[in-house]
Amino acid sequence: MSVERVAQRAEAQFQDTLDSLCSYLRHPAISSKPERASDVLALANRVAHDLRELGLESTVHELPDALPLVSAHWMLAPGRPTLLVYGHLDLQPADEPEWETPPHEPTRRGERLFGRGAADDMGGWVSHLAAIRAWLDEDGSLPCNLRLIIEGEEEIGSPNLERYMDAWPEVFEADAMVLTDCENPAPDVPGLTVSLRGLCELELVVDALSADVHSGLWGGMVPDAGLALMRLIDRLTDEDGRLKVGRVAIDDARRVAGTKVPIGEPEIRAGARLLDGVPPLPNRDKSSAEWLWWQPAMTVIATSFAPPEKKKNALRRRASAILSLRAAPGQSTADLSSVVTEALMKDPPFGVHVNVRPHGSPGEGWLYTPRGPAFPAADRAYLATWGRPLVQVGIGGSIPFVALFGRRFGDKPLILNGVMDPATTAHGPNESLHLGTFAKSIQANVRLYDELGRALGAP
Ligand SMILES: [Zn+2]
Repeated sequence: MSVERVAQRAEAQFQDTLDSLCSYLRHPAISSKPERASDVLALANRVAHDLRELGLESTVHELPDALPLVSAHWMLAPGRPTLLVYGHLDLQPADEPEWETPPHEPTRRGERLFGRGAADDMGGWVSHLAAIRAWLDEDGSLPCNLRLIIEGEEEIGSPNLERYMDAWPEVFEADAMVLTDCENPAPDVPGLTVSLRGLCELELVVDALSADVHSGLWGGMVPDAGLALMRLIDRLTDEDGRLKVGRVAIDDARRVAGTKVPIGEPEIRAGARLLDGVPPLPNRDKSSAEWLWWQPAMTVIATSFAPPEKKKNALRRRASAILSLRAAPGQSTADLSSVVTEALMKDPPFGVHVNVRPHGSPGEGWLYTPRGPAFPAADRAYLATWGRPLVQVGIGGSIPFVALFGRRFGDKPLILNGVMDPATTAHGPNESLHLGTFAKSIQANVRLYDELGRALGAP
């Protein structure tokens, strides 16, 4: 069967694939640094050139005031469905002093490849380039039509991706999409991302006096705005320290999926850098996955409290805080903001004046229900290569391009996966790619094209 031969070919070409990944990683294509714009363009041109060498048609698109976007296609299978693969070639900065290897000189240590972008996201789309190459080298064709979109601005929030969609809509036309910029719950557990949380901020302002006054003269007689602020914030949380308003009901499918995800105390301890003796919040009646991905959460991200070196012996007239709210997938940030605001405005402690207003601009979450033949097809590809089907996972944060694809193409099968794992430390120092995960992802992609070509091929 040709898919077996192609899979073997991809395996035989693995060292070549790794070499080309390493050569891409030597480009410091950092989208947030204007002085690196030429590196982003150089890498885009290089990738487009390599895609042409592979046998695809490829174009570097450029819009004014935007970093480039690479598109490519192979459309020589008439009557077959078209799969679009999305990835991004730009990088986060790598200025952290904690890097143990040069961030732009990929370095192999054991079973991991260290370097900025190794897993986020160059390893993601290179795993597709490897699968495409194996098919074309071994079979001379692909089992489905294929498009590639490789963006140059994901790490700055994809500010122009929708403009690219409007300017060149034809390069986004497809029957199914693989968005490869997400994480696996473990190096041997493949993840299918089905949700993101939304994000918004509220500014909470408490006024007690019309001016700061001496605490020696008035302490113990009039309210402390700072204490009132703390009591108000405390009011929003339960005894475990979790936001207690705005919680949502989870359907059974996700509840069960959440229990299959391997997030235990060791993973939380390592991932969240918990100090010895500090336990994670207790799970009670929900899984860790549900708390992390599917329920709202609050973090106090700023206050007006003076740092110790700026203390003064005064009762402050005002105290304020910025509350960061993560909305549950499917829950609007406006709904969550309004229940939080209501809880804060009710019965002000000590009769102080309380004001709550939106801060910054909100980003909505995303909740996706996988349905249709593309998902069992993807499961078959993963079962054959990883030994298990995809596990539904969420992301506690927000990814602008995912919300955009969801809005524009939510009626199509959207397969969100990737080559990251919890030890990857994307965006942090010492980012790395698990080479076993990378190799299995290439194998899964080889089979995914074949499975999707057949599953979506019938009219
Ligand atoms: Zn990424």
